[in-house]
Amino acid sequence: MTQHPGNPAGLPDPHELDLFEFARSGRQAAGVVRVSQLPRMLNEVPAEAPDRDTAFTWQAEGATQPELQDDGTEGPQPYLRMAVHGAAWLECQRCMTPYPQAFNIDATYRIVNTEAEAEEFPLDEDEVEVIVGSRQFDLVDLIEEELLLSLPLVPKHEVCPEVHESLVSGVAGAEGEGDEAAQDEAGEGDEPKRPNPFAALESLKRGEPGDKKH
Ligand SMILES: [Zn+2]
Repeated sequence: MTQHPGNPAGLPDPHELDLFEFARSGRQAAGVVRVSQLPRMLNEVPAEAPDRDTAFTWQAEGATQPELQDDGTEGPQPYLRMAVHGAAWLECQRCMTPYPQAFNIDATYRIVNTEAEAEEFPLDEDEVEVIVGSRQFDLVDLIEEELLLSLPLVPKHEVCPEVHESLVSGVAGAEGEGDEAAQDEAGEGDEPKRPNPFAALESLKRGEPGDKKH
């Protein structure tokens, strides 16, 4: 097996995992994958996102379960359980600004040998998905696949920032009603920010005796 730089010794490379062995020996693995490693996922992240390269943590666990095989004998059926957690910035389809979308995936896969086997597996088993295993299985690819499948149909803020703006104008309207109180109490507190730059300008002008002496 190839050792990849940055892959601590002893840990399987998530890009080429022997999935059958992983399941058979009930192994566990965990890691972090960044959006920049997932090109199709990165496509979903708007350019103006505050962070385009967010991270996802993943955990995988192999297992087998004795099951009746095609040849009528009972054999160990390999399974994979995988969890992925994290967030990515998506574009809100309501206000067209980026927002952080959380992803929480927990899936169990029945590992089969061939595409044909995967197709003949009854789909009414909705709690278990079927994947074609391999001796060099790309777990990162599966993670990306699951993230893409978990994308919201219509990505959007729970509450768009625009809604806040309308709230602000509502507050301004309420302030208009209580003008007297607002000026007594907050009037002085609200204003200083504006006059200050002008005051500074004035003092600058006053502090330019050169012009006046001409
Ligand atoms: Zn929005």
